[in-house]
Amino acid sequence: MSKIGCRYGTHRVLAPANTLPQPAQRLDNSMELYDNEMLIEVSTLNIDSASYTQIKKACNGDAEAMKSMILSIVSERGKMQNPVTGSGGMLIGTVKAIGPNFNNPTKVKVGDQIATLVSLSLTPLRIDKIKNLQPDSDQVDIEGEAILFESGLFAVLPNDIPEKLALAVLDVAGAPAQVARLVKEGDTVCILGGGGKSGVLCCYQAMKNVGPKGKVIVVEYSKENAQRIIDLNLATDVIVADATNVMDVYKRVMELTDNKGVDVTINNVNVPSTEMSSILITKNHGVVYFFSMATSFTKAALGAEGVGKDITLIMGNGYAEGHAELTLDIIRESKEIRELFEKLYV
Ligand code: NAP
Repeated sequence: MSKIGCRYGTHRVLAPANTLPQPAQRLDNSMELYDNEMLIEVSTLNIDSASYTQIKKACNGDAEAMKSMILSIVSERGKMQNPVTGSGGMLIGTVKAIGPNFNNPTKVKVGDQIATLVSLSLTPLRIDKIKNLQPDSDQVDIEGEAILFESGLFAVLPNDIPEKLALAVLDVAGAPAQVARLVKEGDTVCILGGGGKSGVLCCYQAMKNVGPKGKVIVVEYSKENAQRIIDLNLATDVIVADATNVMDVYKRVMELTDNKGVDVTINNVNVPSTEMSSILITKNHGVVYFFSMATSFTKAALGAEGVGKDITLIMGNGYAEGHAELTLDIIRESKEIRELFEKLYV
């Protein structure tokens, strides 16, 4: 008998009632396919950085404890959604079955390798076994299956980029795509956490957009990550600072900008309490893009009001049209970033 589920996956929400899969507490992760779903045999999860950092901290960096925590989250929720950060990540795997009513404009076939472009925090997932987990890498190899709803975005993995590298960059594809939209020629931009994965991609895109008359300032915590940006010439200025130390970041960015502040701030930090650094350094009528999943909407909205800043605060929607291609193209264009990411993430 044909079984058509809701395009947005509400048929898999077990609790609470009347919600969508992302905010739901628990999803039905039985792998019996509805006619408008896709079944994926999963090989690797890329756990969101804010989530992985929280899990690693809670488990004191112990790999076995981290595995147990991930298994218990997935068995409790039917999806890999960190209960503290609320965030997920994404996955790669092989298409195992496609329901006859699955919306399939890309003509994906059974056997194709794909990356999901929707969050693990809404993707029904069953883990049979964790095959490999390294505390220093947020890519976790598993045996298991997942479901993609009819509205679920995905990309067929390209032939010219290794799958784990594609997984790493597609996880953060929304960030450089937003930079491409927001940053104009001649702008002054500040990228907090610019030395991390999404940060490096944002720096590349920002340098391209601002051109020779603009400025790209990176605020980075570790000297090592800051040096990476200097070596790759991905910013005009690099500040080594703790982005949670608001007044320190504010003073140092003001010094670099003749007390004017910046036009666009991109927040790529993976720890909480960096909202006010982002807001204070941004010019009136400027824009802050909070890609970080550790961002508090309340702190940002009330904080901006509290310091009298009329600025646009953008939540980091992970999806922007064309984001996957734009991000994979950065890897194709920049040999240096490709080499760095192959060293760090593959
Ligand atoms: P990442 O590679 O771990 O980068 C985070 C960077 O922030 C690192 O360079 C880190 O430096 C730096 N950092 C940490 N604490 C800092 C501090 N106090 N001051 C200054 N810099 C600091 O993470 P990512 O994968 O690029 O992800 C970045 C953020 O985006 C995370 O919050 C992640 O959850 C979020 N995200 C959002 C979406 C979305 O759809 N909106 C999708 C994916 C990821 P160290 O390495 O030295 O600590």
